[in-house]
Amino acid sequence: MVSCYMCDEIAVSVEHVPPRCLFPKQKDLPRGVNLRRELLTVPACAHHNMEKSREDEYFLNVIVGIEGINAVGIEHYRHQVRRQFARNNSLLRRFKSRSFDFGDRLAHRIEIERLDSFIDQLARGLYFVHFGEKWQRLLSWFPEFLSRITEPDPQHERARLSTISRAEEMFSTTPYLGANQGVFTYQVVGTKQECEMRLHFYGTARILLTFPHPLAAHPNHFRALHEQRGAV
Ligand SMILES: [Zn+2]
Repeated sequence: MVSCYMCDEIAVSVEHVPPRCLFPKQKDLPRGVNLRRELLTVPACAHHNMEKSREDEYFLNVIVGIEGINAVGIEHYRHQVRRQFARNNSLLRRFKSRSFDFGDRLAHRIEIERLDSFIDQLARGLYFVHFGEKWQRLLSWFPEFLSRITEPDPQHERARLSTISRAEEMFSTTPYLGANQGVFTYQVVGTKQECEMRLHFYGTARILLTFPHPLAAHPNHFRALHEQRGAV
């Protein structure tokens, strides 16, 4: 009997990590191109494979809005995300209500709690895929792409840039894993007791995950930075 990647319940299905909706459908791609090859899955109980499609969609909406993503992401936005918005008016309204013009760009106020629980689950899923075991302790994540534009904070920005340059260095010789790297790829440094992962969505939207050593203080640098001055 296989148990769920998040809890001790019996697994009744598989869940895709990251969610399948991030990967363009065949019908949106040129003939012969398949970006849904060998998608990663984990065993999940009914609760943890719950209807989290809304959270998946929210994450997709955030990630395809990031400046500098590759053509795969931009095309995916044009097809899939527009379809989602057309289908789900409340999703569109909610998203729009948090978006605003900022100079010549469109900015978005992230729903951080929502992103937090989504990424926590995603991180545990990837850990399970990679090590074949559950991660049962706290972990932390850092969105490299997120900066404060309405309340610029030099200290926060310096910390963000230094985290990014540390990550660039740490992962510079580490292989990129995953079959559809234009959509998603990840790197791992460390062991199953203690590791860091760097996730890359559509080339340039990156999230750093820290799975700390059992004796380490919980190094939630992202939380710590954001709690100083309220949410983004
Ligand atoms: Zn479960």
